[in-house]
Amino acid sequence: MESIELRGCSEDELVEICREMGLKRFRAIQLFQWVQQKAVRSWDEMKNIGKGDRQTLSSHFHLYPLERVREQRSEDGTRKYLFRLEDGEMIECVLMDYARTRSRDRHTVCVSTQVGCAVGCSFCATGLEGLRRNLSVGEIVGQVLDITHYVRQEDPDFQVTNIVFMGMGEPLLNYDRVLQAILLLNHGQGLNIGMRRMTISTCGVVPQIIQLAKDNPQVGLAISLHAARDDVRNDLIPMNRRYPLKQLMEACQEYTQITHRRITFEVALTSENSRREDAEAIAGLLKGQFGHVNLIPVNPVAGTGMERPSSELMRKFAQVLEDAGISVSSREERGMDIDAACGQLRRQWEGEL
Ligand code: SAH
Ligand code: SF4
Repeated sequence: MESIELRGCSEDELVEICREMGLKRFRAIQLFQWVQQKAVRSWDEMKNIGKGDRQTLSSHFHLYPLERVREQRSEDGTRKYLFRLEDGEMIECVLMDYARTRSRDRHTVCVSTQVGCAVGCSFCATGLEGLRRNLSVGEIVGQVLDITHYVRQEDPDFQVTNIVFMGMGEPLLNYDRVLQAILLLNHGQGLNIGMRRMTISTCGVVPQIIQLAKDNPQVGLAISLHAARDDVRNDLIPMNRRYPLKQLMEACQEYTQITHRRITFEVALTSENSRREDAEAIAGLLKGQFGHVNLIPVNPVAGTGMERPSSELMRKFAQVLEDAGISVSSREERGMDIDAACGQLRRQWEGEL
């Protein structure tokens, strides 16, 4: 019998499989809690499950924690992890800690959803090498579990409070698994992370945006907009050729009608898309859309030729949007000293081989 990925199982699935194995329902509930709430990395840690039952369970289930190849800490508290998967592939994951700057602690994990990415945006390190494979549900959830595990070694009360699907890969091209991972992360007997505290970021896969509104209207949506003219956006995000801005904005309107949720529009500013007319085009495009713009200075990736705009240029860009009545924030730069833009650490590491 093929063994089942333990970290990808819902509580109901565990109950059903345990029942077939002749184990009691409460065993399945205990098992779910050890995996999804206490974030254990081995069978031996499941102390209230007897050795006999643990042996039976481990012959049916497969528990493969991610291997921490490298952890880097930034001066601002951001931690970046490079994890090796069971088949040797590498992914990255970032923990952003806002504990010192906010009245309420916020611990956000930036999760990867694929190894590589098929979209191939011109400024992105992940897209440079194409898609290698989708992550499984257990691998997606596993990033949050393993980070929880490691941080709890220093701070036993540590809880991840927010998730952003902004790591490597395009979440809406691994749609079913990402949605299932969200249910696990939200589960009351798991990490219990609120739906509204999780955000999916997409380059604009139109059919899945509408599907998401129907399947999970609670989870947040961020659109990587970057430009408001098709010719400019085509060059930055090849997906724009398939789903141009008109279709994307129609999907956003529909999304808002269904969910009543405000969309975040991400705009990574490079020296090429930060002119006044670029800002005016974005203001025009977003007129009447229930949204918020998040400006990010591009993180220069070797080989892409992209440069960061000056902070003066960014300020002016934000002003144009504000003057047009659009809600705008400039994202704090985090983890600059550790190459926190996803895909960068993996490339750097491979360069050392
Ligand atoms: N594929 C999804 C989510 C992963 S990328 C998407 O494209 O939205 C997460 C975010 O990082 C996106 O907004 C993306 O445009 C941005 N990004 C990628 N490379 C970047 C870089 N070098 N500098 C700044 N932002 C970058
Ligand atoms: Fe893929 Fe997002 Fe990178 Fe574009 S920005 S290549 S969609 S991961």
